[in-house]
Amino acid sequence: KKIIIAIDGFSSTGKSTVAKQLAKKLGYVYVDTGAMYRAVTLYAMQHNFISKEYFKKEKLINSLAEIKLEFHFNTEKGFAEIYLNGKNVENEIRTLSVSQFVSTIAAVPEVRKMQVKQQHELGEKKGIVMDGRDIGTVVFPQAELKIFMTASAETRAKRRFDELIAKGENVTFQEVIQNIEERDKVDSSRKDSPLKKAEDAIVVDNSHLNPDEQFQKILQLAKE
Ligand code: C5P
Repeated sequence: KKIIIAIDGFSSTGKSTVAKQLAKKLGYVYVDTGAMYRAVTLYAMQHNFISKEYFKKEKLINSLAEIKLEFHFNTEKGFAEIYLNGKNVENEIRTLSVSQFVSTIAAVPEVRKMQVKQQHELGEKKGIVMDGRDIGTVVFPQAELKIFMTASAETRAKRRFDELIAKGENVTFQEVIQNIEERDKVDSSRKDSPLKKAEDAIVVDNSHLNPDEQFQKILQLAKE
């Protein structure tokens, strides 16, 4: 029987790595909801709706109907990549500058509403692994398996820093850990915070698990 697997947790806890592996192993569809919020953020940046000095929230809200997000499977990479209005933006959305604005964009209720609606549509075909912040609580409270991933800020910053450096970005470890801590704060301090552990979610702390141990542990849970 095909099920819905919801994987939630803070950024850089290794959610997407394990979600991709699971989807591949089980023949499920993988949906990265962080990529969706990042793509809307990229759109806002491209249209000068947001910068360090301002955020033209109303303009963004009025433009939401113009934003078309799609996932297309990349057979070479083995997972679906995100397209913003017909353009593959999988790489562009992973920059530190997008990371710096994404929590502000994700805090806009109209943005969340639009994303959740699309996530429901994507979930109509069962056999799905979706990762994010609010999947087990808001998007699919009926998901058969819910995982809540945690890891120390240090472990996560190290992971994100290595990724950015590998991509040739000019960042310091300090900047990365600061961004992670700030996003944690914004993501968890709002009264309508997207990040909440569902009561029936299973907590996986991967500070001390390597990617394979983590995958085996969660695969075991999916099989139960
Ligand atoms: O998972 P990732 O770090 O790529 O997510 C980027 C940002 O998108 C998060 O910091 C959070 O602000 C937002 N997000 C969200 N709800 C989700 C997924 C991501 O608010 N379901």
